[in-house]
Amino acid sequence: TDLAHIRNFSIVAHIDHGKSTLADRLIQETGTVQDRDMKEQLLDSMDIERERGITIKANTVRIDYTADNGEKYVLNLIDTPGHVDFAYEVSRSMRAVEGSLLVVDSTQGVEAQTLANVYQAIDADHEIVPVLNKIDLPASDCDRVAEQIEDVIGIDATDAIQVSAKTGQGIHETLEAIVQKLPAPQGNLDAPLKAMLVDSWYDAYLGVIVLVRIMDGTLKKGMRVKFMSNGTLHHVDRVGVFRPAMQMVDSLGPGEIGFLTASIKQVRDTRVGDTITNDRNGTDKALPGFKPAQPVVFCGLFPVDSAEFEDLRDAIEKLALNDASFSYEMETSAALGFGFRCGFLGLLHLEVIRDRIEREYDIELITTAPSVIYHVFMKDGEMIELHNPADMPDLSKVDHLEEPRIKATILVPDEYLGDVLKLCQDRRGIQMDLTYAGQRAMVVYDLPLNEVVFDFYDRLKSVTKGYASFDYQMTGYREDALVKMSILVNDEPVDALSTMVHRDRAEMRGRAMCEKLKDLIPRHMFKIPIQAAIGGKVIARETLSALRKDVTAKCYGGDATRKRKLLDKQKAGKKKMRQFGKVDIPQEAFISALKMD
Ligand code: GDP
Ligand code: MG
Repeated sequence: TDLAHIRNFSIVAHIDHGKSTLADRLIQETGTVQDRDMKEQLLDSMDIERERGITIKANTVRIDYTADNGEKYVLNLIDTPGHVDFAYEVSRSMRAVEGSLLVVDSTQGVEAQTLANVYQAIDADHEIVPVLNKIDLPASDCDRVAEQIEDVIGIDATDAIQVSAKTGQGIHETLEAIVQKLPAPQGNLDAPLKAMLVDSWYDAYLGVIVLVRIMDGTLKKGMRVKFMSNGTLHHVDRVGVFRPAMQMVDSLGPGEIGFLTASIKQVRDTRVGDTITNDRNGTDKALPGFKPAQPVVFCGLFPVDSAEFEDLRDAIEKLALNDASFSYEMETSAALGFGFRCGFLGLLHLEVIRDRIEREYDIELITTAPSVIYHVFMKDGEMIELHNPADMPDLSKVDHLEEPRIKATILVPDEYLGDVLKLCQDRRGIQMDLTYAGQRAMVVYDLPLNEVVFDFYDRLKSVTKGYASFDYQMTGYREDALVKMSILVNDEPVDALSTMVHRDRAEMRGRAMCEKLKDLIPRHMFKIPIQAAIGGKVIARETLSALRKDVTAKCYGGDATRKRKLLDKQKAGKKKMRQFGKVDIPQEAFISALKMD
């Protein structure tokens, strides 16, 4: 296809504003999929997405469209992930297209993810077409939302298209706007191949499938290509496009979006943002901005049953094959035995992987406290990246610590603003901006990532009854007075419960943790002291009193079934516990103890 008849775009939206529904409508309206094959949420229901769960990064579909001017166009839609954990992937897929549809639910208005995603689109120099969705609903208020788009985002919304992705109203206008308003891609057919690796995933039949955007040159079946980040060479055995099912083609030219397969075994070998060129006489200028995915949140994963360690290793290795952004290394804990220290892009990513190990591989896990990467500056000038509080070096050798910070953007209805400010303040936040748009406030905070990774989002949802939206970006490292707090149960340090805390909050945090643990750890036949300590100094203490000799004594007399039930219940509880010295600590203690209310 000649460049003038190609349009490449993505759809940016806050979750639930109708991105998938709109994509389905565009596909349906253009007859890309026969009506009888049309399923709800076509893009979402593709097998690859189901298989990949929430880690799905981008789905693509190529649509043929004959415009009102009689010309035939090829429209390539790249569907980007909506979650903050995958900001880098979003930024890469944005670079693969020239324009965006900005979908805003006209009954709701602009939300935090709308902003985060549209800023990515603006960064990528996109032409942006605002689309006001859900106009079929009585609560729809297009004027107000258009005004809000202008006020908050600063783009012209006078020509915003009014759409109901549900009824199909405005879909034709949307297709025309894509053709008329979005720029055609540019590229040089005669130059060496230069393609961006937009995404990749594993397919059981075809091996790794690599989604590419061709910038210059031609990608052909049968050629040898080089991945520039690591210099690896691959023989291209298939080239194709998604409609949305795979369709093989002989070649892809400048401006086109499609896929290749090349007998690549591991997704790990394909890096999002990488440049693909010819094996010989290729380009020597890689596309700018490539960086390998960097895990930011770390935690330990240990099997509840230590006999399942090898199964866990197997599960983790399999999952890692298909997820280049997930890292792991073996870890031994005095308390938990053998396990793995794993790195994730964010908390959602952590939860997805943990759930998959538990569900798909049927291994019960103990997850230790999530931690960010601290920079520990030693007195001798060395800098150590600390991924695990348990590895904190001897304080006498440490000069100072730095922690990662984020810029958080929160949109919230006025009435909850006070609670949100308090929450951010409690988490050591520094207010950077506060503006109003309609009845809502937009607050921008500089926060330590550590204070956010744990339960910040849950707390935010609960204090705002779900009305706040939230998004963040990493900004860099800053020094602060951070210390390692250890927890001792029955005088034994439980390394898996160690956390890094701010010195000023250590005592409060320590007290809260000891109280929580007192509730979470079942009583034993003996008294159990629970202590929080910094260095050798105990800063908080609780005592779990001893159990009366016979647990069944409270069943008064001879009700045998009740007695058995109680014993069974104890046994079931046991399964999920681990022994620390002489004390059984239940699995949920490792996470719950850290939640701050
Ligand atoms: P996404 O999270 O942005 O992909 O949003 P979805 O496309 O999954 O839509 C979220 C919800 O809004 C679904 O229940 C859709 O059926 C509904 N929805 C999407 N577009 C419209 C619309 O134009 N009108 C109405 N009434 N509902 C819509
Ligand atoms: Mg969706």
